[in-house]
Amino acid sequence: MKKKVIILGAGLSGLYTAVLLKSQGYSVQILEARKRLGGRIYTQYAELETPIEMGATWFGAKHTHLLALLQKMGIEYYKQHTEGTAYFEPFSLAPPQKINIPEQVPSYRIDGGSEAIIKALASKLSEEEIQLGTTVSALNFATEKVSVSSSSHTWEADLVVSTLPPALLCLSVAINPALDLEVKNIALATHTWMQDSIKTALVYETPFWRDKDVSGTFFSNVGPVTEFYDHSNRAVEKYALCGFVNGGYAGINAVQRKEKVLAQLERFFGEVVHTYLDYVEYVWPQDPYTKHEAMPNIFPHQNNGHSIFERALMDGKLFLSGSETARNFPGYMDGAVQSAERVVNDLKTIHSLV
Ligand SMILES: Cc1cc2nc3c(=O)[nH]c(=O)nc-3n(C[C@H](O)[C@H](O)[C@H](O)COP(=O)(O)OP(=O)(O)OC[C@H]3O[C@@H](n4cnc5c(N)ncnc54)[C@H](O)[C@@H]3O)c2cc1C
Repeated sequence: MKKKVIILGAGLSGLYTAVLLKSQGYSVQILEARKRLGGRIYTQYAELETPIEMGATWFGAKHTHLLALLQKMGIEYYKQHTEGTAYFEPFSLAPPQKINIPEQVPSYRIDGGSEAIIKALASKLSEEEIQLGTTVSALNFATEKVSVSSSSHTWEADLVVSTLPPALLCLSVAINPALDLEVKNIALATHTWMQDSIKTALVYETPFWRDKDVSGTFFSNVGPVTEFYDHSNRAVEKYALCGFVNGGYAGINAVQRKEKVLAQLERFFGEVVHTYLDYVEYVWPQDPYTKHEAMPNIFPHQNNGHSIFERALMDGKLFLSGSETARNFPGYMDGAVQSAERVVNDLKTIHSLV
């Protein structure tokens, strides 16, 4: 009998872990709370089928694990558009100022949207191997087989890999026997990258900013938008602007937020901003599968990549993975890829295939 591994979460880390373990002969089963794949990678299709990244978008040449995976899966990428004038809004009483952004290390985006990597990994797994809409609420290691439970079902496995952000795991899953206290305390004080962010995008029929040699990039100390970029697709036939809204604006409703965003964008681009075909936003702090309501305020990246996450727990039956556990680039897509590779190596050294 093949060893059965249950993997919690179908984000980049969980899917890649499953693909690697399956290719090495393990039996795999992913349990995913959301009704979609991808976790913090979330490509939405707005008006005119314009791809909009509500989650992870950019990476650079330094993200070598992600780059290697993209290459292995035959997925192309392209440079973020930055050509043209950029702006900076230093404080509320001053108008936006033109800035020259020095020639910098380029950022890249995934061709076909960030979800291309998620789709490519999922295509290596069968439908039965990925169970969506399944929120794991308990893990029991007190018996020979591990039992993994949702509110309506229990599964048995030899091993479990959790790719939930460490704090979320501790706050939302009952673990028996209790997790080692040192691990638990550090996990609870580990920041989940981007858990407080809000992303906003507007779709347009024409790239009016590019027509005026404006890049679409701006930075603001005033807000609500803090940074904004051109978000047109690679073929430059679907046009959008997209960026981050200060997470503090999660405290007002969507209608008020939109009014404030549009008023700010008008300062940068003029009245033409109101001609949008679609307006999309995603408020990550209100998503319980990224941020638990009891999550304390933690300094960004605190405890990310802590070596304690590399311990095999519960007599080698529980492994912690996910981007926040990676030693390098924790919190980012590259960290998610690295965490999958690390956990699969660790698991193999402890457990033979059968
Ligand atoms: C707004 C935003 C912008 C970002 N921008 C970038 C960027 O530009 N570049 C970059 O490199 N990274 C970026 N990131 C970070 C990047 O998205 C993450 O590092 C990466 O996607 C994490 O993958 P993961 O698999 O480790 O975790 P996740 O994607 O969080 O996957 C964990 C999975 O577990 C599931 N889950 C949660 N609770 C349960 C439960 N109880 N039972 C079962 N399943 C559960 C979740 O639904 C989720 O699918 C961004 C993230 C956000 C939110």
